[in-house]
Amino acid sequence: MVTFKASSAQVLLDVLFDSMPTQPKEKRNVRAARLHQVGSPLRIEEVPRPRVQGSEVLIRVAGAGVCQFDVHIRSGRVPLPKDFALPLTMGHENAGIVEETGPLVREVAKGDAVGVWGGRGCGTCRVCRQADEQVCGMEHWILGGYAEVMRVPHERFLVKLDSLDPVEAAPLTDAGLTSYHAIKKTLSHLHPGAFAVVIGIGGLGHIAVQLLNSLAPWAGTIAVDVSDDNLALASELGAAFVVDGRENPAQEIMRITGEEGAQAVIDLVGTDSTLATAASVVARKGIVVVVGVGGGSLPFSFFGMRPESMVTTSYWGSYNELVELLDLAVQGTIRPIVHRVPLEEVNEVLDRLEQGKLTGRAVLVP
Ligand SMILES: [Zn+2]
Ligand SMILES: [Zn+2]
Repeated sequence: MVTFKASSAQVLLDVLFDSMPTQPKEKRNVRAARLHQVGSPLRIEEVPRPRVQGSEVLIRVAGAGVCQFDVHIRSGRVPLPKDFALPLTMGHENAGIVEETGPLVREVAKGDAVGVWGGRGCGTCRVCRQADEQVCGMEHWILGGYAEVMRVPHERFLVKLDSLDPVEAAPLTDAGLTSYHAIKKTLSHLHPGAFAVVIGIGGLGHIAVQLLNSLAPWAGTIAVDVSDDNLALASELGAAFVVDGRENPAQEIMRITGEEGAQAVIDLVGTDSTLATAASVVARKGIVVVVGVGGGSLPFSFFGMRPESMVTTSYWGSYNELVELLDLAVQGTIRPIVHRVPLEEVNEVLDRLEQGKLTGRAVLVP
């Protein structure tokens, strides 16, 4: 499995181990869904079971969330980050059971249920030193959940799950964590009576609505989507207002906010049209947080948005934020809506996600 850059010594070890005749070869193979060519479907195939050494941990994947980012990687809309070699086992939203540990592993043991924090950085640059490793560069991120097992490069990337079901916890490691990190950027703007707009009520958005309700219950949450099912779900999950994205959402949001605009806008889609909506509804001194990698752009100029409003991107979330979020889930504050899907259906699920035909989060259960 080519999920991170192996040293040549590691490759040599793997070759040596793989050639040892201790076990029949077929028993040590595992199923994985791999991308061989950008623009083509993933292939389900047998690959050698990864070996672990040092502080590495082998996880039996219980759940791997299917993310829009994977749709974009498959289609080529997001270029493959440097060091992501093909064939690639995708899947960056993972939880599972520890199956094997390297000799230096101390904190987890075989049988532990764990979530994988995947936002690994280089470990030594300025942002990594600030414990914001996920901002360092996508090429270091930990992928590999679209398989029966995955090798995690160090035990420090694991969080024990306590009472949480690993299948339900999987989406929290990205869909939940990315929403949480983005919402934390908005909290200082969300005074009582303020409004927070969430654009896109999919895998991330349905968790974002729940998080806003618990972290800023004094602010009104406005959910925007183009699907009736997703809007109905947003209402069920406690959004104060739902706005149909197909019919002039900006005008409706301005009406709801008494023409003041929203103090926070979280765009989980990121197309030209959602970004234009975000820019036109953000209030004075408000914030637009762009999370969706939909490929749109936003013209920015002095009078283009209301005074002292700001725009930022948001990348995944930190390890500590994942620990906080899992605590919120244990307390029952948030609950992802999960559809369990066998690994063999990965391409169909990616298709459905691309077509906007999923509600909640699809999780592969290899
Ligand atoms: Zn993702
Ligand atoms: Zn770094």
